[in-house]
Amino acid sequence: MSVDTKTPMFERVALIGIGLIGSSLARVIRREGLARTIVVSTRRAETLARARELGLGDVYEQEAGKAVEGADLVVVSVPVGSSGAVAEAIGAHLKPGAIVSDVGSVKADVVRQMSPHLPPYVRFIPAHPVAGTEHSGPDAGFAELFENRWCIVTPPAGADEAAVETLVAFWRACGSKVETMTPEHHDMVLAITSHIPHLIAYNIVGTAADLETVTESEVIKFSAGGFRDFTRIAASDPTMWRDVFLHNKDAVLEMLGRFIEDLFVLQRAIRFGDGETLFRHFTETRAIRRGILDIGQDTAAPDFGRVPKKD
Ligand code: NAP
Repeated sequence: MSVDTKTPMFERVALIGIGLIGSSLARVIRREGLARTIVVSTRRAETLARARELGLGDVYEQEAGKAVEGADLVVVSVPVGSSGAVAEAIGAHLKPGAIVSDVGSVKADVVRQMSPHLPPYVRFIPAHPVAGTEHSGPDAGFAELFENRWCIVTPPAGADEAAVETLVAFWRACGSKVETMTPEHHDMVLAITSHIPHLIAYNIVGTAADLETVTESEVIKFSAGGFRDFTRIAASDPTMWRDVFLHNKDAVLEMLGRFIEDLFVLQRAIRFGDGETLFRHFTETRAIRRGILDIGQDTAAPDFGRVPKKD
């Protein structure tokens, strides 16, 4: 029997929220031996019981305040609209010097919500792993979720350098590539690369559902024509995405304005038979897709690498 002599990066990690992201973290922390003790906390007894059944942690604690006691790293993985309330619940219980982080898809507003509740003797370094699926809950997580995906670390002004370095090393150990930027810049970038695409997906699937001239069975039957890929995104968690739009309002509205202007250009080109504009536009967008494949952020396999379902 081999004895693992690796020293864990943290003695005690507390995971507050154990859904898709929290449970993926629990799994990869365990696999990589990044913590001696993993404390799992979540608000509902049923979710905590499920986490225990799955063996995601070493200690299970429903009360977030109790869960963070003595932890060197605390990662909050709850919908962004709840991050302030969680910070309030844990603030007084945090160990001096602890690194407090989160995984929220919005950063500036999470900093605004959490900072007032965190004592000056902890080191608050927010982050966002740009990795996910449309599934939720502790069963949905998997250790490989962060593999080769970006994690954006957004240290507030004056953040402790050593804590930033530790958090960056932690995410690298989870398999991520890491980039650092301000919370505000993060929110602008993610508005166009993630939030607006989700809004478009939610909208197009809703529009198709409302059409009177096309039957529902036709929408489902012919979905492989492009619609199906939107339906996957539009199946994402309603609570999470409601919170993303409410808490990244300014950046989303700014990007939505630009998107609508550009859509009008395409609409005009179609109306006036301006094939040159359409062709030029589609050629440019194709290059973006190639760029994504080149850096390994997707697969070029036919049908996006989906395995055809056998009837
Ligand atoms: P999830 O699977 O739905 O899990 C949510 C977790 O938060 C559960 O433990 C849930 O607890 C808890 N929770 C829900 N509402 C809460 C509240 N009002 N107060 C306290 N705890 C609450 O969600 P997720 O996909 O892991 O997302 C968690 C965070 O990661 C979000 O901020 C999201 O923006 C971010 N994120 C998500 C993705 C993605 O693709 N899903 C990707 C990157 C980042 P109970 O089950 O006990 O109620």
